[in-house]
Amino acid sequence: MCSRDPASNQLIDYKNKDSEPPTECTTASGIPVGVKDAIMTVGPRGPALLQDFIFLDELSHFDTERIPERVAYAKGAGAFGYFECTHDITKFCAASVFDRVKKRTAIAMRFSVACGENGSADTVREQRGFAIKFYTEDGIWDLVGCNMPVYYVRDPSLFPSLVHAQKRNPQTHLRDPDMFWDFMSLRAETMHALLMYFSDRGTPDGYRHMHGYGAHTYRMVNPSGETFYVKFHMKTDQGIKNLDARRCAELAAHDPDYSIRDLYNAIKKGNYPSWSLFIQVMLNEEARKCKFNPFDVTKVWPQKEYPLLPVGRLVLDRNPTNYFTEVEQLAFSPAHMVPGIEPSPDKMLQGRLFAYGDTQRYRLGVNYMQIPVNCPYRVNVKNFQRDGAMTVNDNQDGAPNYFPNSFCGPKESSRALALQTCCPVSGDVYRYMSGDTEDNFSQATDFWTYTLDNCGRKRLVRNISEHLADASQFLQERAVKLFTMIHADFGRLMTEALNTAKISKF
Ligand code: NDP
Repeated sequence: MCSRDPASNQLIDYKNKDSEPPTECTTASGIPVGVKDAIMTVGPRGPALLQDFIFLDELSHFDTERIPERVAYAKGAGAFGYFECTHDITKFCAASVFDRVKKRTAIAMRFSVACGENGSADTVREQRGFAIKFYTEDGIWDLVGCNMPVYYVRDPSLFPSLVHAQKRNPQTHLRDPDMFWDFMSLRAETMHALLMYFSDRGTPDGYRHMHGYGAHTYRMVNPSGETFYVKFHMKTDQGIKNLDARRCAELAAHDPDYSIRDLYNAIKKGNYPSWSLFIQVMLNEEARKCKFNPFDVTKVWPQKEYPLLPVGRLVLDRNPTNYFTEVEQLAFSPAHMVPGIEPSPDKMLQGRLFAYGDTQRYRLGVNYMQIPVNCPYRVNVKNFQRDGAMTVNDNQDGAPNYFPNSFCGPKESSRALALQTCCPVSGDVYRYMSGDTEDNFSQATDFWTYTLDNCGRKRLVRNISEHLADASQFLQERAVKLFTMIHADFGRLMTEALNTAKISKF
């Protein structure tokens, strides 16, 4: 850890910011506080008094100062900046962020670690969250992705179990390799994501040196109402950099907040991190004929068939002025889409459309969109929602709170109506199990064979074997069977590595 980097100097910078004498201390109700370091007692050694509001005001606020942490992606860092559109994609999308080259839109971004709690180390092997909030003139667009282009499972009914299996054992309160490998090896569709998780990119060197991916398939609508399926890619302009296992362990011991510090310091020094935004586009006709399910989040769209098209640049140039207000309360939901961007039938996305808003209502309350960092401040929000805990705006004054009405209440938007697509669907209502009905292996095989080089394959085998060696023997065998289905060499190398790990334990 650097002893006097910009992050370490934050308080000194604050002190030097203006030379005014400190302002007077008050209670939350604004009453001046005369004595800050003594409670009110009966005599110098006597018991305390209930009437000591100054003390009780301080203590009761302190008692409630934590809000529930996110059940997943709890620990993170955030920053602010802008998105600049660099390429005209209006033939695909009518969203206002893309309507003019050189147009800038304010953004907030939050990076996070998937399963560790708020105090956990930043450098552990984990998927990283990669979320962007665009403050557009059509309201908030949240693109809530991660640092891998695929996800582990395709049916959202498995999401809670996937997270439970990676978090703590309910009795021991320890991370449990048996839970992890039991779940993963019972669901072969996890293999593609697992290979990325255990590859070099599973331990990125801070948040600035990793790519981001929207991962899900979305639909874009152009100004003529034509639709296209798309995937979003955010490529780091700092270049990919990863940490090896030894460095990860050193940092976990000596600087567990390494990634938060790295982002803060870079921005503070004016070394603004940026990412180039690309899209892959699939036509409706191509989606119908696609040899794999284009709405399956465990798959990528091969870049040879669906090349990356440049769109713009995301730049972070401002640190949060207060972590809790602007990062802990920064709330994303993939359901926040603007006219021109719509969901696809991707099942995992459909589940997340509900889950994210739901968790923020639990964490922050029903009016979490009124919190300044979440508020669609470029729009005059007008609707028929009222009241609820922590209503802190004008609650829409005396405007009618029902629709339709004859008293100048807000009207429907003709622009949103024009861009609303009509999409036919039919089918039998059923619980369609997707575990083994889709191809679980081809892309994992491509990743092993073509994406990784020899050294990358060796490191992948070592990384997996170090983790899997701690799981029960039957789980090791079940996992190796799946690795063998990905590639015979992979299965063989894993068996050898696990045998070596076994010998070295004795
Ligand atoms: P391409 O060769 O066109 O794309 C390979 C991609 O893999 C590049 O985006 C590259 O990122 C990325 N990559 C390289 N090393 C790693 C790694 N260790 N972990 C994760 N990603 C990595 O091939 P295809 O599009 O045909 O895909 C082949 C396989 O590559 C896929 O099955 C998938 O596993 C993987 N992949 C594909 C992506 C896609 O969007 N198509 C995205 C990421 C991975 P970079 O640009 O930095 O070199």
